[in-house]
Amino acid sequence: MWSNWAGNENTNTAVMRPTTLDALQRAVMSPQTLRVVGAGHSFTPIVAGAERILDLSQLEAPTIGAAEDGQVWVNANARLRDLSPALADRGLAFRNLGDINTQSLAGAVSTATHGTGSELPCLAAEITDVRFVGASGETLTSADIPLDIAQVTLGLLGVLTEARINVVPKYNLRRQVTLTDLPECLANMHKNWAENRNFEFFYIPFTGKAVELRHSVVDAPETKAPRDLDMLAVKVLKLARNAGRFSGGLRSALLRLLTMAQSDEDYVGESWRVLCSDRHIRFKEMEYHLPPEVASDVLAEVFRRLERDHKDIYFPIEVRQTAGDTACLSPFQGGPRISVAIHTDADEDHSRYFNALEPLFVEAGGRPHWGKMHSLTYRELSGLYPDFDRFCALREQLDPQGKFLTPALSKLIQP
Ligand SMILES: Cc1cc2nc3c(=O)[nH]c(=O)nc-3n(C[C@H](O)[C@H](O)[C@H](O)COP(=O)(O)OP(=O)(O)OC[C@H]3O[C@@H](n4cnc5c(N)ncnc54)[C@H](O)[C@@H]3O)c2cc1C
Repeated sequence: MWSNWAGNENTNTAVMRPTTLDALQRAVMSPQTLRVVGAGHSFTPIVAGAERILDLSQLEAPTIGAAEDGQVWVNANARLRDLSPALADRGLAFRNLGDINTQSLAGAVSTATHGTGSELPCLAAEITDVRFVGASGETLTSADIPLDIAQVTLGLLGVLTEARINVVPKYNLRRQVTLTDLPECLANMHKNWAENRNFEFFYIPFTGKAVELRHSVVDAPETKAPRDLDMLAVKVLKLARNAGRFSGGLRSALLRLLTMAQSDEDYVGESWRVLCSDRHIRFKEMEYHLPPEVASDVLAEVFRRLERDHKDIYFPIEVRQTAGDTACLSPFQGGPRISVAIHTDADEDHSRYFNALEPLFVEAGGRPHWGKMHSLTYRELSGLYPDFDRFCALREQLDPQGKFLTPALSKLIQP
């Protein structure tokens, strides 16, 4: 029995855990279809649906190899949270990371996982070479799969075992957190992305306030990490939502208290510790990556509709920016994108909220996060990516029997 982190994807398919490359190759060569799982942190049906699931967390491989010219080979199935300290031991670090580091590197890059920063690309764009086990058990490298196709694959071309990535000397980040009025936040967001290495904000529904986060590289020593109060804040938001079912005034009063209790934060720590945190409250998520020039209008409409039609929603809306890249299936291919992420509690119905907002994102030319909920199929996706059919043609050539294919994935890549 396998289930993803959010619990919205489940299957009875047995999970196999090969520990050697030989065993992995034998497993791939057997005729049944298979999917590889990383940390199971995707919300979409991109792991379940085949006859077998392979978990490669126990595959014997060095975590990282020697660094050369700012690049290092890593075990692609290691978790980001293990790779960061291993890199730090050699004085190195990832250039950027997302909100969490529980994912495996392979899982993260396969869906174009990103952080925030207008000059900082998604993790997949940092890959400079790859080693896959192909559908017949053969080894494939960037000599066989062009890099721009190999960087983001949804696990459709083979099993990624090792990746060479760009790294930077390890660095400390200063995090500053402030509460701002929403109109001011929206008016200044482009300026904030231009002026800060990392900038993002969370709109807190029904408060008119946004929590802004800025990160800058500093030479200063680490300070004491602040207590992580995000979980408590989400619990209070839920409590206020529940109270609001009886009295709108009570919800407003609780939200006022919450925003008054939100204290500004100023903290210095090692980059990966500052960028990533733990997420203990389970949720479901949809995230669309928008062309920057349409983001302000789309956001205004998202907030308007949320407050008019979705009084049951209490999760903050997260807004980030990622630099453009050249990967064929990267949502950031061709230029920077502003990402808007909406969430519901994992145990609550998401469909009314997500279905109401998704058309706004799609009409604005947004591309969905591959690991987060969306309803697009080949018809729409092939129009969003100029090289989509090039990817699909190579996939057909490398895996003509569809070993890595499932019915859900076929809908994404086949007419
Ligand atoms: C709490 C939470 C926070 C998140 N924060 C962010 C964020 O800040 N930014 C962001 O962009 N996303 C975020 N995500 C989404 C997440 O990063 C992606 O869905 C990512 O793909 C999950 O990685 P994983 O290791 O769990 O991979 P899985 O979800 O297990 O797999 C993802 C895909 O990778 C494939 N795959 C895994 N290993 C291999 C391999 N060795 N070879 C080939 N294919 C492989 C799988 O088959 C699947 O198609 C978040 C998700 C959660 C639940």
